[in-house]
Amino acid sequence: MRTTYRVMTEQVTIRKAEKYAVSQRALTDKTRDFFMQNFGCCRKVYNLYVDWLYKKLEEAGYDGGEKIPKNKLPEVTEFKKEYAFLKDVDSLGLANAKISFENAISHFNNDCDHKSYTKKALRRDKSGTEKLTFRGLKGIPVFHSKNHRYNSYTTNCQYPNSVNGLKQPTIRLENNKLYLPKLNDGVELIVHRPFPKDAKIGNVTISMESGGQMYASIEYECIIDKNLDLKQAVISGDKEVLENIRILGLDYSQESFYVDSEGRKANYPHFYMETEEKLSRELRKLSHMVMGSSNYNKQLSKVQKTGRKIKNQRNDYINKEALKLSREYDAVAVEDLDLRNLSQSMRLGKKLNDNGFGQFRVVLENKLRDKGSVLVKVDKYYPSTKMCHCCGFKNAEVKLGVRKWPCPNCGVVHDRDENAAINIREEGKRIFADYYKSVLEKEEQAEMRATQRSEYRHKKHK
Ligand SMILES: [Zn+2]
Repeated sequence: MRTTYRVMTEQVTIRKAEKYAVSQRALTDKTRDFFMQNFGCCRKVYNLYVDWLYKKLEEAGYDGGEKIPKNKLPEVTEFKKEYAFLKDVDSLGLANAKISFENAISHFNNDCDHKSYTKKALRRDKSGTEKLTFRGLKGIPVFHSKNHRYNSYTTNCQYPNSVNGLKQPTIRLENNKLYLPKLNDGVELIVHRPFPKDAKIGNVTISMESGGQMYASIEYECIIDKNLDLKQAVISGDKEVLENIRILGLDYSQESFYVDSEGRKANYPHFYMETEEKLSRELRKLSHMVMGSSNYNKQLSKVQKTGRKIKNQRNDYINKEALKLSREYDAVAVEDLDLRNLSQSMRLGKKLNDNGFGQFRVVLENKLRDKGSVLVKVDKYYPSTKMCHCCGFKNAEVKLGVRKWPCPNCGVVHDRDENAAINIREEGKRIFADYYKSVLEKEEQAEMRATQRSEYRHKKHK
């Protein structure tokens, strides 16, 4: 039995996003062209910025080793003078293309080392096709090509205020129809999940996948009732309540997605794996064909279709699994590992990138947050794998690939992943309690300061 304590809720505003497919049946040629035009113009603006940057860098004689020097970016209106067709599309989309270019620069400046080159650039240098320049640096903004996934644009919602004279918001979702700036007829969406009525739309991204299917991703703010049970439990200091907090530890596992602290393995559905096998079969066929031939193109669209299916199946699995865990447990603890580094350095390879554990953590974090809980991240240097959860002995002999090991100190035989998951849960519990204690202390201190202030004021009055 679970101990009951006072259920408290608090209303908080959160940001969420909902992605709906555009109804292919109801999509008119006119609307499709409108979207394609917007995709094209946003790509054009982005590429004009890249072109502008390359010219600046060439003038400055830049050849890597440092951050991109600061320069004032030209305004989109300057591009419009030269390319009149940019005036026909949603100007907010173009403004967002500028923002994404600015983000690309700060990504290069802040997250990259400014000196390593991409594999492609190194290959071209070796074969003598093209000498190494700053254009081959890892992370530097590059031209976006039409054939390579850059078919999307983002627009923002504007609300009536005293200045702009609008009568209603510029983006509305009414009767499954989405109205956007410059799209007065609206576009029909397949609304599989109702859109919250009181939601305030922030922005919308329209995108197109390789098969031509379009999607609308709507970002919005809404008010939810946040459950404060957990905080109350810690604040009350009730030992029984604290012990009853249900925390689950998850350890990433290459074969079975994850292993939890109760010894269960996530069963990644078998029929999903069949699609993955099918993809590798189709890819093999593709590799025997002449690039650009009509058979090649036919096979390519087959490969893309299977790829999309895998993506959809994985998303479906991830969302269901995350929802299940967020409902069953008060909090979940995971290891805070950098999956990108892991897949590169440990030769775990493709599988790690593919099964979407990183995405799973993000989805799980969001779902836990929605019910007022948290995803507890355990430090990646915490020795979860090597430590015996019974006696705390650290066994340095546990290397990658060891599935089962006996503890030299207490003799208990451990399943590698389950033992790790239990350690992660215990460390998670500790972090979790510490976190709420610090929240509590801060609140106490703030209260104390407030009473001190009011006492001081009272004295002054006297
Ligand atoms: Zn032991």
